[in-house]
Amino acid sequence: MGRVLDKYPLEIVEVVLEVTVPVQTRRLMGAVLKARFSRFPASLSEAQKVAQTDSPAATDEMRSSRLDRAAAGVRSLLATAENVHTWSHACLEHLIRKSMELRPSTLIKKGTACTTTINNKTGSMEAQIGRIRREEFEKAESCKDYLPQYTGPPSWAEEQRMIKAFWRLQFFLELQDAGNKGRLGTCWPGQEVDVLSKSSPDGFYDVPKPYYNFEREQTLTACDFFGAVTSGSITLVEAVHDNAYRLPTIRWIEGTVPRCFCAEPPSFGFNEDIFYQGPENLDRMPMSYLFHHAMSTTDGWLDGCPLTLVFPFQCWRKYGFAIWDDKRMADLGMRDPRGRSIMKKYISYSFRWFSILTEEDLRDVR
Ligand SMILES: [Zn+2]
Repeated sequence: MGRVLDKYPLEIVEVVLEVTVPVQTRRLMGAVLKARFSRFPASLSEAQKVAQTDSPAATDEMRSSRLDRAAAGVRSLLATAENVHTWSHACLEHLIRKSMELRPSTLIKKGTACTTTINNKTGSMEAQIGRIRREEFEKAESCKDYLPQYTGPPSWAEEQRMIKAFWRLQFFLELQDAGNKGRLGTCWPGQEVDVLSKSSPDGFYDVPKPYYNFEREQTLTACDFFGAVTSGSITLVEAVHDNAYRLPTIRWIEGTVPRCFCAEPPSFGFNEDIFYQGPENLDRMPMSYLFHHAMSTTDGWLDGCPLTLVFPFQCWRKYGFAIWDDKRMADLGMRDPRGRSIMKKYISYSFRWFSILTEEDLRDVR
């Protein structure tokens, strides 16, 4: 097998990626492979759109390179893929553990906002309503009765979202490293290399509509975990710092039990995918993000639903809400378990979301 791979490395990698890896991740992996052959996107804006743009994983120039060089490039990509996979499972494991510790409350009766809050007309109409809602929730009668149910290991969509987020991080780190080492200088203007060197992975990728910025939250979920592992505040895995400008190689710490269960892509009949777990939902906005948008949009109203709470999504990112599908969200008590509509009983579920905010979250947003 090894000899076959050494003889046809690029042909094999292209075919295997095509049939096994979802399209955006495949494009990011292709970009990483090309970067290892010093074939970089032609400009900063092209690099930012790399997951959106169709492009073959190998160029003719790579095909005409020496066979041992091509094989070494493909083998290094496979090693990275293995590492990205481990990072993804470790992050998912961490987020599952963290979300299982949640103890949300159930709303019994909303409180009444005091007259000072109601008469406080400063800020936009949305800010005023947000303050009133918040006080109604703060003074609400509630019961800490919900225990999150364990959904099981990550679903296919959850794992693939996480893997894509880590590939976004991997490609960004490699490109930034190439820029810092002067390897982009021949094809990019100096100003673009400067912009890249000052960029962060979450701000780097092109997002057409800021309100629908769920991919940024997914990338940040990966970045938060990356930061926590490399700073030593998460001890599920340990980073081996052999690669300052890429994702470092990690290994599970002895005693932790990794759940490296990789789900197969599910298939659903018409209208059966009530929890949005099918492959067509992978690159779409997760319903949890849409619920947050409806709950906190500063547009005021969305689809006839009134604004309830104005808190940034990052308050819930630390529990994996940018990644989870709706089955897990329902089992965590954050969405109605029946039916496709996420807006069912939205006041009750907004309260559940509110009830898990930490003191810092509440203090940071006043
Ligand atoms: Zn897996």
